Amino acid sequence: MSHPQSEQLYARARAVIPGGVNSPVRAFRAVGGTPLFIARGEGQYLTDADGRRYLDFVGSWGPLILGHAHPEVIRAITAAAAQGTTFGAPCAGEIELAERVVAAYPGIEQVRFVSSGTEAVMSAIRLARAATGRDLIVKFSGCYHGHADHLLVAAGSGLATFGRPSSAGVPEPFTACTRVLPLDDEAALERQLSSEGARIAAVIIEPLPANHGLLPQRREFLERLRALTRRHGALLIFDEVISGFRLARGGAAERLGITPDLATFGKVIGGGLPVGAFAGPREIMARLAPDGDTYQAGTLSGNPVAMASGIATLDVLARENGWQRLETLGAKAEAALRPVLSRAPFPVHLVRAGSLFWLSLHEAGAPRTAAPLGEAASARYGRLFHALLAQDIYFPPSAYEACFLSLAHREADLDTLARGLEQALAAAA
Ligand SMILES: *Cc1c(COP(=O)(O)O)cnc(C)c1O
Repeated sequence: MSHPQSEQLYARARAVIPGGVNSPVRAFRAVGGTPLFIARGEGQYLTDADGRRYLDFVGSWGPLILGHAHPEVIRAITAAAAQGTTFGAPCAGEIELAERVVAAYPGIEQVRFVSSGTEAVMSAIRLARAATGRDLIVKFSGCYHGHADHLLVAAGSGLATFGRPSSAGVPEPFTACTRVLPLDDEAALERQLSSEGARIAAVIIEPLPANHGLLPQRREFLERLRALTRRHGALLIFDEVISGFRLARGGAAERLGITPDLATFGKVIGGGLPVGAFAGPREIMARLAPDGDTYQAGTLSGNPVAMASGIATLDVLARENGWQRLETLGAKAEAALRPVLSRAPFPVHLVRAGSLFWLSLHEAGAPRTAAPLGEAASARYGRLFHALLAQDIYFPPSAYEACFLSLAHREADLDTLARGLEQALAAAA
């Protein structure tokens, strides 16, 4: 398949942008070939620079829960922009989005907005350290929490793709206060907390790990995590940057019935514009400047256009019974794909949670921990990806990334995917 415009743009981009991209996974390194340059999106479709249209199952990696260019979101953004794009002073939109977040999520009373998920997590960790007066943080192997130095240890996502445990440019002392545990392992958790519990400021987890494939955790494991952090006085941070406002209105916390001490948001909360947030009880949030001694700031934080996009997105979801409809759509996708996968010429396991799904190519079945894919399976994913693309179906360009459904997807799209997948599986064998 040739994409002359994308190829030309990629060559130009590589001259002035490292690797031609502003976020590594976009470069298609894990699957080979030229990344598609996208000209526009509409509903469940993406159109590339060559004018070819694809059924999109990436949704910009999560934010586009209503699909591309939802008319109501575009109207809200346009109206806000016409009033001025940034003031560097408070605006009413910040309160409106904050009130929605506080009303939606269990256990939180206050929220502060930032401009990305990375910033949200970075700030939540600083706050946790200030509030507890402790230094250590615990994370889980395969969970991704953005690219802040001290969290770039055994992270998933692009790093899993590159098979690197960490990154160059992060001095060892920067990660000396970070401990990494395997997911799905109560014994390891217990050992860690009994040995260093009194020094641990926070344990951070994706309650639905979705950056190393999709690794739904056993409820018992997460409940144990809640109980042990409480016992040792460490804060529990749920990184809900993907799961927040997607799995349910109250994110994974609502779905699981487990309330963390702090939560971080991103992706859906900005409806496609750069918004992140971290939230918690007033008592902890009061440590933040200007009331408290913990510094945190942002020139574009609470940006009026971004706030309008987030508000419109959450309002459409609420009004259209979005979370229930996405669960139903996810179940339909599962029903459409399961029979196809059972006939696949090699092992493929479907993992689904709400509107997120992942095709695991692990021979041994879908994992619950961050297991690396073998070389043969990785190569198979590359062939599968390109065979889908040839049928105008856009999947994530990495075997470790989940697929996203949006309210724009129709049942007919799921049938199209099932048919396309049947052919692609044969081509990838
Ligand atoms: C995407 C993601 C982040 C980082 O968010 P950015 O907006 O890309 O900085 C952090 N945590 C999780 C769970 C994510 O999925």
